[in-house]
Amino acid sequence: MGAGSKPLTASIAANSGPAEGPSPAVMGTYARQNVVFARGEGAWLETDTGERYLDFASGIAVNALGHAHPRLVAALTEQAGKLWHTSNLYRVAGQEKLAARLVAATFADKVFFCNSGAEACEGAIKAARRYHFVTGHPERWRIVTCLGSFHGRTLATLAAAGNPKYLEGFGPEAPGFDHVPYGDLEAVAAAIGPETAAVMIEPVQGEGGVNVGSADYLRGLRAVCDEAGILLLLDEVQTGVGRSGKLFSHEWAGITPDIMAVAKGIGGGFPLGAVLATEAAAAGLTPGMHGSTFGGNPLATAVGDAVLDVVLEPGFLDTVQQKALRLRQSLARLQDQFPDLVLDVRGQGLLIGIKLAVAPADVVAAALAERVLVVGAGDNVVRVLPPLIVADHEISEGVERLARALTHVSSKTR
Ligand SMILES: *Cc1c(COP(=O)(O)O)cnc(C)c1O
Repeated sequence: MGAGSKPLTASIAANSGPAEGPSPAVMGTYARQNVVFARGEGAWLETDTGERYLDFASGIAVNALGHAHPRLVAALTEQAGKLWHTSNLYRVAGQEKLAARLVAATFADKVFFCNSGAEACEGAIKAARRYHFVTGHPERWRIVTCLGSFHGRTLATLAAAGNPKYLEGFGPEAPGFDHVPYGDLEAVAAAIGPETAAVMIEPVQGEGGVNVGSADYLRGLRAVCDEAGILLLLDEVQTGVGRSGKLFSHEWAGITPDIMAVAKGIGGGFPLGAVLATEAAAAGLTPGMHGSTFGGNPLATAVGDAVLDVVLEPGFLDTVQQKALRLRQSLARLQDQFPDLVLDVRGQGLLIGIKLAVAPADVVAAALAERVLVVGAGDNVVRVLPPLIVADHEISEGVERLARALTHVSSKTR
């Protein structure tokens, strides 16, 4: 290929940095920040031009172990030299190993691997419907879900969450979901009928604005489901794999689900999702009833296994809880410092929400200018999601940068 095969202006545009703005060739489905990162290490990201950002977004709770964690890099590169993909037509050693570890560490007896959170939620929904089908209750197929939820962007998971903003223009909503307010146990009980297969909720609503389901609520849901003979599905795509300070958030309430959707942190940045289920709840997913071409391929499961190596190390989750407490207390001081701007600080573990009196986008942008990354959410909340390996001095630095960002926003809004 000759150097002159493209007009010079085109090659300049193709190689240029964020100053030029995003390429029109990429479909415009995201309102992206105008910044391009070239490398990362731990809790830090660096642009091509060498500016360093403190990453308190973690790719939306995905980079659980930060960037370029040596154990993850080693696991991926070692596997990359051996085998990438074979298909689920054959046994996959990495899947068998990772599934056994997840089974040993959780309520689950069975694991299905997929590639994303939406797929994990879809798999959980399918498993619940099939469970009732194979146990003689095909009429039980509806699922009670909560307003303000987020379960992904497939047609079924959009209907499950029922957010009108994301459903508009996509044709008739997939049927079978009955929505109730989050945190309202009586509403759940009232919504359960003879056609109900399951209740599906996030133990902490992430996208919805870091709404923490109380232990009483989760225990109540477990009891209501048991009484009705239906399944409890937990979406731990965002809360899972240490983010909550426990391996899974439901452990705080001392309950277990029948089926759980997992993704985000489990791959530490490599696309990996999983549906975990009890033996009984998995009964409907017999050969041929569900599948995924890429799900649980050797690369993904090698990385997932390395993530578990770190997260399950004795003391790791205790350290996450200590970091979470430190961050939470530092952010609470921001509430004292900016009472007109910061209305509440809430969350679980290192999934923390700052409830604002202004649009979260303003604070996200001001934080970006101070070179700390945070994530907007519903209910006027900014999410603070540092990697689980964040150091104490990085917590202090991140909160200082956020304080400067809030100072900037408060001077503008005054
Ligand atoms: C991110 C998320 C999803 C969707 O995950 P994708 O990988 O984007 O499909 C589903 N549920 C929850 C709770 C999430 O946070």
